Amino acid sequence: MPLSFFNTLSGKVEEFKPLEAGRVRMYTCGPTVYDYAHIGNFRTFVFQDILRRHLKYRGYQILHVMNVTDVDDKTIANSQAAGVPLREFTTRYIQAFQADRELLNLETPELVVRASDHIPDIVKVIQTLIEKGYAYASEGSYYFRVQKFSDYGKLSKLDFSGMRVGARVDADKYEKDSARDFALWKTAKPGEPAWDTPLGRGRPGWHIECSVMAMKYLGETFDIHSGGSDLIFPHHENEIAQSESATGKPFARYWLHSEHLIVNGEKMSKSAGSFYTLRDLVAKGYKPTAIRYLLASVPFRKPLNFTFDGLRQAEQSLDRLRNFLYRLSHEQFSPGENPQLAKHANETRAEFEAALDDNLNTAEALAAVFNLVRDANTAMDRGEFREGDKAFFANVLERWEEIFAVLKDDDYDKLRKGGYLQERHVAAPPLEPERNREGILQLGTLSDEQIEDSIREREQARRQADYARADRIRQELLEAGILLEDTKGGTRWKRK
Ligand code: AMP
Ligand code: ZN
Repeated sequence: MPLSFFNTLSGKVEEFKPLEAGRVRMYTCGPTVYDYAHIGNFRTFVFQDILRRHLKYRGYQILHVMNVTDVDDKTIANSQAAGVPLREFTTRYIQAFQADRELLNLETPELVVRASDHIPDIVKVIQTLIEKGYAYASEGSYYFRVQKFSDYGKLSKLDFSGMRVGARVDADKYEKDSARDFALWKTAKPGEPAWDTPLGRGRPGWHIECSVMAMKYLGETFDIHSGGSDLIFPHHENEIAQSESATGKPFARYWLHSEHLIVNGEKMSKSAGSFYTLRDLVAKGYKPTAIRYLLASVPFRKPLNFTFDGLRQAEQSLDRLRNFLYRLSHEQFSPGENPQLAKHANETRAEFEAALDDNLNTAEALAAVFNLVRDANTAMDRGEFREGDKAFFANVLERWEEIFAVLKDDDYDKLRKGGYLQERHVAAPPLEPERNREGILQLGTLSDEQIEDSIREREQARRQADYARADRIRQELLEAGILLEDTKGGTRWKRK
């Protein structure tokens, strides 16, 4: 089977063919650096790392760009709460992220770029959108006119027709022409970081940052764009709208989205208060390699349920592999070769490679190697393993490790000695104590009343200018299958 991926855009598994033979250009949405990343975030980053390692394994040269969102409502609010200037504050969390990435054996993308370093590029693209009639100004901010982009919805496949009228909003405060329009540029608010630009004083919206950085380094059309499934709508839908409107060309060709890491039936997230950072788990004595193994073990399109039992099992699995490697390098076997074992080893290699070609089926790729190790251990116990077989087994595991990267813990010891764990106490206080919205996602079937309650709560958050919280409520409703649309007459909603 050729290398194939599930493409969210086409809704099916497709053979992967990059634009340029032998070369892949890929963009992944990086972290918003207002706090430590949690292991839910790292599920997505580990998946993307396996993706890039497998592409390299298959002989592709890679140009991988990852952004860092270092200016948005959350970074601004937390830097202010900590009393630290924005740049200094976000740099602290970029460094923490880098340390976490090293611990998890995540390869560093060819380019890691900060949104705030690209203000002139962002302004230029917004100007193009204005010239082409896709953007308009309102009260010092600029918005994208969704109605003008007829392909809107092609990624998320959301249908905005038939919305129901829900809670009332204060229509006077409504500055957009249409509810679905989104901000490209936000006018400066007193006391917030802002840039003086031809568009006026302000800061970029989140979506435009990614469009601009992706196109700047990868070209107007490039191969792969990836993130967690919560980014499909609105973030990636909006990225497509802005980019394709600005260039008139297709934006990313393959869209790969990972499903969430779940705890207690809910997406691991800061707002639900149910999250662990990597440091939390390392402080409890778990090895980063076991965490990486656990995060990689479930194919990316399936939700992964996080439990400490699962983490302990991951450690045991890795111990089995390490014990086998120890036997392989320390035991003496009879001379010669056992052709059956050598064949089994070669077949296993082909099996795990084929599993990864098949939309990165990591579960099968792991199973193939564990079968082999079990059989080899049995052969060793029975005296059937030969000295000449060693090289075949070492080769399979070495190749497998190029992708899974879970057998060595060197960085772990190094970082632990370097004070890695002490750093975890400097996190800024959370934005505000969040009501635990437990129940919303589990229920799946919210009553009309519960939906209206949430919409009212979101309205209140917006009135208090807590847009981060308002966005979270909208996202949670979306994940529970409820679509919101803000109109001049109020927020309308419907079940997906
Ligand atoms: P953020 O820092 O919130 O911008 O998110 C960074 C990445 O983590 C994005 O690709 C998100 O989609 C992803 N993400 C957030 N929460 C989870 C989760 N619980 N499981 C998997 N990925 C997640
Ligand atoms: Zn993005």
